Amino acid sequence: MRIGIFGGSFDPIHYGHLILAEQCRDQAKLDQIWFMPCARQPLKEQGTISTDRQRIEMIELGIAGCDPFHLSKLELERGGVSYTVDTLEQIRSMYSTAELFLLIGDDSLESICKWKSPERICELSTLLVVARPGSGDVDLSALKPFASKEKIDQIATHKIESPLIGISSTDIRNRIKEGRSIRYLMPRPVERYIQTQGLYK
Ligand code: ATP
Repeated sequence: MRIGIFGGSFDPIHYGHLILAEQCRDQAKLDQIWFMPCARQPLKEQGTISTDRQRIEMIELGIAGCDPFHLSKLELERGGVSYTVDTLEQIRSMYSTAELFLLIGDDSLESICKWKSPERICELSTLLVVARPGSGDVDLSALKPFASKEKIDQIATHKIESPLIGISSTDIRNRIKEGRSIRYLMPRPVERYIQTQGLYK
């Protein structure tokens, strides 16, 4: 089984996340994608604004009706700082024969040298990197200190072509604070949930 792991704050989930996940699913022929809300992001000083429960519920609403998309509470249940390498080790020990893929935007790839055990991450999974607006072409050179040439070539063959989506959770939260529209930036049930919960005001 080919499993895509997609970690993030998802505060809130938006179409940038969903388009990235669907393009990876389709192009890398993944059987499942696990949306993995973090407990605490190692590189983000500020914690999340919404509660764990609210982020879970928004993800559930966002992925509803898409069978290959799953919510995983692994990092939330583990608690503490959510290191990707620990998550991959845990999944590898539970599903020893699964092939693991790690879905990330290229802004995250740029900071991979600051992650815990990037070499091990590259051993345990194949990275699927999707470009975000403003970052130019996906550049895999950040991986050179950690991954073998063969591994980098393998990642390059899994190049994901995706429309550039200039949506971020930060922008959505700012729009809400400023009373601006967030319509069509996320699935409608997520938008309604944000409104009824009075989030990000
Ligand atoms: P924030 O604005 O709060 O930092 P975010 O929108 O970047 O949040 P995260 O939940 O932190 O979302 O991101 C999880 C993963 O999804 C990261 O690897 C990030 O690069 C990727 N990602 C998020 N939005 C997009 C997008 N619009 N296009 C491509 N990748 C994205």
